[in-house]
Amino acid sequence: MERREKLYEGKAKIIYATDDPDKNILYFKDDATAFNGAKKGSIQDKGVINNRVSAKLFQMLAEKGIESHFIEQLSDREMLAKKVDIVLVEVVIRNYIAGSLSKRMGRSEGEKLSRAIVEYYYKDDALNDPMINRDHVLVFNLATAEQIDVVRETALKVNQVLSDYLFERDILLVDFKLEFGVYHGRMLLADEICPDTCRLWDRHTLEKLDKDRFRHELGNVEEAYLEICRRVCGEL
Ligand code: UDP
Repeated sequence: MERREKLYEGKAKIIYATDDPDKNILYFKDDATAFNGAKKGSIQDKGVINNRVSAKLFQMLAEKGIESHFIEQLSDREMLAKKVDIVLVEVVIRNYIAGSLSKRMGRSEGEKLSRAIVEYYYKDDALNDPMINRDHVLVFNLATAEQIDVVRETALKVNQVLSDYLFERDILLVDFKLEFGVYHGRMLLADEICPDTCRLWDRHTLEKLDKDRFRHELGNVEEAYLEICRRVCGEL
């Protein structure tokens, strides 16, 4: 598959066109940002790891009947994906209290929720991705009622399948962010699923093995990403 012009460069990935109008190439960078770009840095080989982990998880989800934009891994840093129109709603699913939920509700990190919580955020960097609800999604035409219902249902199914898959590998899925896109009228899971977009804790020690190590300067960032890659994908 030929890599053509650059379509978009985000914080962690570059999107390229291909000779097929229905397909894009995603290039995974090592650049890392946090707090909506206020903290910048880079994590060695993050792009390679996030590509590999995302590919593995998208394949696993496909086997469980959850379709995504993923087609195939092309190289260490490149993924071939269906060209979707990204929905401007980021979906966060939470199983344990952490991050912004801990702040918002004044509760300590690590408490298990009685059931999963689904949150929506308006995908707009200039506005700092504000939290919104289903009414905002509908009134501001970010998605139709039918679409947002599919998004919610799919997100909860992903949570179940992914939580089980990771638990078997001694990882707790604390919370994570998903993005969706429309492809020929179908709502597909898109973007990436990796230690940048999930909170992943060791099941026994509760050690953080995700981007929080970068966000809060906890050290051993590269080691944590590598450990997740080993547990999710097997030996490197
Ligand atoms: N998240 C993300 N991108 C964002 C915001 C959040 O991937 O722009 C992920 C984050 O890694 C975590 C979950 O979504 O797994 C919930 O994040 P939270 O709302 O607690 O915000 P944070 O504390 O990360 O700012």
